[in-house]
Amino acid sequence: MASSASETHTVLNPATGGAVAEVPSTGAEETDRVIERAQDAFPAWRDLAPGERAGLLRRFAAVVDAHIEELAELEVRNAGHTWSNARWEAGNVRDVVNYYSAAPERLFGRQIPVAGGIDVTFHEPLGVVAVIVPWNFPMPIAGWGFAPALAAGNCVVLKPAEMTPLTAIRIGELALEAGVPPGVLNVVPGKGSVVGARFVSHPLVRKVCFTGSTEVGKQIMAGCAEQVKRVTLELGGKSANVVFADADLGKAAAAAPYAVFDNAGQDCCARSRILVERSAYDQFLELLEPAVTSLRVLDPVDESSEMGPLISASQKASVLGFLDDAEVAITGSAPGGAGFWVPPTVVAVDSPDERVWREEVFGPVVAVMPFDGEADAVTLANDTEYGLSGSVYTRDLGRALRVSRGIQAGNISVNSHASVRYWTPFGGYKQSGLGRELGPDAPNAFTEEKNVYIAQEA
Ligand code: NAD
Repeated sequence: MASSASETHTVLNPATGGAVAEVPSTGAEETDRVIERAQDAFPAWRDLAPGERAGLLRRFAAVVDAHIEELAELEVRNAGHTWSNARWEAGNVRDVVNYYSAAPERLFGRQIPVAGGIDVTFHEPLGVVAVIVPWNFPMPIAGWGFAPALAAGNCVVLKPAEMTPLTAIRIGELALEAGVPPGVLNVVPGKGSVVGARFVSHPLVRKVCFTGSTEVGKQIMAGCAEQVKRVTLELGGKSANVVFADADLGKAAAAAPYAVFDNAGQDCCARSRILVERSAYDQFLELLEPAVTSLRVLDPVDESSEMGPLISASQKASVLGFLDDAEVAITGSAPGGAGFWVPPTVVAVDSPDERVWREEVFGPVVAVMPFDGEADAVTLANDTEYGLSGSVYTRDLGRALRVSRGIQAGNISVNSHASVRYWTPFGGYKQSGLGRELGPDAPNAFTEEKNVYIAQEA
């Protein structure tokens, strides 16, 4: 972790509002020094034999595996995540590092037929890569950036969100413990306007891999343009869950709360608009009610909790603001007292112009609206500047394919709400992002492709 910062940030437990830790806020000069140290470490990391880099990443994954409980406990306390989510998230870091540990030995180029010699391509690392992480999934989103970047031979500077730095700081220590050389993975806690902005403007940083709001993503992209810096953006979402009357309505209604209220709705992939075919609308809402009211919204220290608090008081205020003029159809439960709690809430919507239908709420609020037929469903689903994910519930395979292809979003699930598997590509259409993470091609996004032609006659 970077040190010698003069300011600190108090990290809170969102379930209670109590202080958990005091974390240094790295200043601009210290950020520069960390970037320079990463640049110094780069040649040796790049030149390490592929098998050795792979071996170090496998050891890193094994050390993370040995600390799953510790990392999960930090996230329960720091981010208000449920135990089951937090364990999954720590396990995801292990799995993603493991998966990309196979990449150094498989960073293949191509041999392209040419006259008079041979032509080959190489994937060469960029140098220092910055990863900027939001507060909603601190561990997985960090890993989706740093694991393929390191595997491709880059050094990484990583900024966790100010509110949720604890797991990233620990993961940085675990990398060192595993034998990853100092300077290769650097965790730099601090403000977006200081550390994040320096990542964007510092000429030694060759790529910024940003996950966060569309608003900040646009600033990052504009800043990167100054140096034609490479950029990957994973931004906001307003995903649709389209339920046709021929679907297994019981299954669709039982799954819908988990598709939006997981992580208290603070999920870029949240299916926060439910579109239900009109003939099934009333029945779907009847089935949805018990699924929402039975959700176990409890302090995450209780292992049976299915939904925890929001991350902060301001996030709570922002989410409640969406309910001011809304027609609330169903309200679940939430603990009272301290902490940033909002109950899971279903809002009935008549018009796609309503704010709760159009804007990303990033909280446990879902809007429901009826539709008439396949074409109407696709039009409504696409009536947004976002395009991250979505679900389609139907028993008709042809319709499932047509609607999946018709929705402008990067990740569609049929009769399911699972969006993320580390071995499949993930990313957004339109203002939900730029580029793809995860999947077999992710390391290539952290390389330049070089073409070399060698003439036969010297
Ligand atoms: P945010 O944009 O406020 O902050 C994200 C990160 O950027 C933080 O680390 C922050 O400190 C940093 N930052 C802020 N200003 C900066 C600047 N000027 N320069 C550089 N860095 C800066 O987002 P958030 O509130 O932390 O996260 C919520 C948002 O993230 C939601 O919109 C959500 O949809 C989105 N998100 C998207 C994905 C995805 O994969 N598409 C995943 C998770 C979250």
